[in-house]
Amino acid sequence: MKWEDNVRKVVPYVAGEQPNKANMIKLNTNECPYPPAPGVRKLAEEMDYDKLRLYPDTDSTMLVKELADYYGVKPAQVFVGVGSDDVLATAFVTFFDSGKPILFPDITYSFYDVWADLYRIPYIKCPLKDDWHLDVELFKQPNGGVIFPNPNAPTGLFEDLSVVEEILEANRDVVVIVDEAYVDFGGESCLPLLEKYDNLLVVQTFSKSRSMAGLRIGFCIGSEKMIKYLNDVKFSINSYTMNMPSQVMAVEAVRDDAYFKSVTAKIIATRERVKKEMIELGFTFPDSRTNFIFASHKSVPAKEIFEALREQDIYVRFWNKERINNSLRITIGTDEEMDTMLDFLRTFLKDR
Ligand code: PMP
Repeated sequence: MKWEDNVRKVVPYVAGEQPNKANMIKLNTNECPYPPAPGVRKLAEEMDYDKLRLYPDTDSTMLVKELADYYGVKPAQVFVGVGSDDVLATAFVTFFDSGKPILFPDITYSFYDVWADLYRIPYIKCPLKDDWHLDVELFKQPNGGVIFPNPNAPTGLFEDLSVVEEILEANRDVVVIVDEAYVDFGGESCLPLLEKYDNLLVVQTFSKSRSMAGLRIGFCIGSEKMIKYLNDVKFSINSYTMNMPSQVMAVEAVRDDAYFKSVTAKIIATRERVKKEMIELGFTFPDSRTNFIFASHKSVPAKEIFEALREQDIYVRFWNKERINNSLRITIGTDEEMDTMLDFLRTFLKDR
């Protein structure tokens, strides 16, 4: 037997590229174009670097408490991780262990099937309807758990909380994870449904609406029992997940609610303006409630536009995958960045 026969093989998730060019416009990984809250900068500048000798707080106690206060839940209902990817990966391995297939949409965050494959969790991809909304009936078949983002990515579409509740109602015996990575851009969180469903886990991130993708901070909120199970798994892999600077700066980001609200409002305003201009340029798209637009052009293939933008050092995201290979996911940047992109498209798409 060769050692390679014993390797756990998996096809990894492919993250959006991180080019590093001087004047590029980076609209490909849904980062926030604005800096984190001013207090975060102050903390970074004043940080006592001698403290880096020490291990961080394994429980991220301050951050957990801050999030619990902010969202009106108990600290024992909050779990934090190194980005919501870490929280989601831990949730997959913790809650999806029945041997039955878990359910998620066919068009969704492309990390879900990677985690499922890694942890040997069977799954069924439930096709979205032609209008890109969830086909709720498909989430009523027998399963070992359910996960979907709301709003969904890369479509940007938000499902009404009545739809989320219908899925919860049909799945009382399994864990239902709602990935709310983009909820702060005009969606509505399903956190209030925690009162009724102790099998609901709501996952959020600091990477988009709180401008802190580089620090890798994510969290989830659920019943105390669920959070205990998550911690049991976390403490069986790595006790010291979130580093000290991230813990401290995340607390400050939550405290500055006015800044958070102003940044998300600014992005929503830019998004709504860009939607109108893109329609004039011949694009169609689902009505995004996120910090990106998932757009197709009436006559020019997405790949061609993607490559033309790239030539200009304007980076957007394109997947050569069934059902979505004529769409571009364009992150909402600053007004200036979006104007540069729109100006180029106006010339490039002229008469087409
Ligand atoms: N969920 C969804 C739907 C996402 O698009 C992303 C961003 N790639 C994540 C989770 C993970 O984000 P992060 O790990 O930066 O919190």
